[in-house]
Amino acid sequence: MEPVLIIIDLEATCCDDSSFPRSEMEIIEIGAVAVLEENGKVESEFGAFVRPIRNPKLHTFCTRLTSITQSEVDGVESFPIVMKQLVGWLGNFNEYTFCSWGAYDKNQFLQDCSFHQVPFPFGEAHRNLKKEFSSLINPKRKFGLGGAIRHLNLEFEGIHHRGIDDARNIARVYAHTIAPRRLQ
Ligand code: AMP
Ligand code: MG
Repeated sequence: MEPVLIIIDLEATCCDDSSFPRSEMEIIEIGAVAVLEENGKVESEFGAFVRPIRNPKLHTFCTRLTSITQSEVDGVESFPIVMKQLVGWLGNFNEYTFCSWGAYDKNQFLQDCSFHQVPFPFGEAHRNLKKEFSSLINPKRKFGLGGAIRHLNLEFEGIHHRGIDDARNIARVYAHTIAPRRLQ
């Protein structure tokens, strides 16, 4: 099987006051899209909500930002079980590289893996597609995902700040701009 990129976008508990520190943010959604490295064609998707443990009650700000509701995280599996499911899905691919828009998702993953004592399912390799896109388009600018989609004159598909939708839109940006530059 050809090499794939595993594009992951995480959503996490958050607040706009001092309810809890960043170091206590916890993943509440894993959105992942596997695309062919060669052209960005979507091969498979994985999406799951995760029940937070440290701050199980979602802050109003968090629901407003992500559109993820309390009932969507209540009663779903916690991080260790969802990670088993993710690792099972990763087993479909022989050769893959973890990618995300920025450095946040890798750091949040490492934080949750450490808190739950779950192995981090990727190696050292990580591609920061925000950095790659920004340096291709304008090295002086840092593009948010919404800004990148607008720059390409595309419409954002789905709901921005939902993990699976963000991951799908990152995949579209990859297919439109980064993949075609590979062979140049
Ligand atoms: P994103 O992938 O941009 O939707 O952001 C991932 C996570 O980062 C969100 O689920 C929030 O936990 C956090 N986050 C994003 N934007 C903000 C913000 N403006 N204020 C606080 N937390 C944020
Ligand atoms: Mg997101």
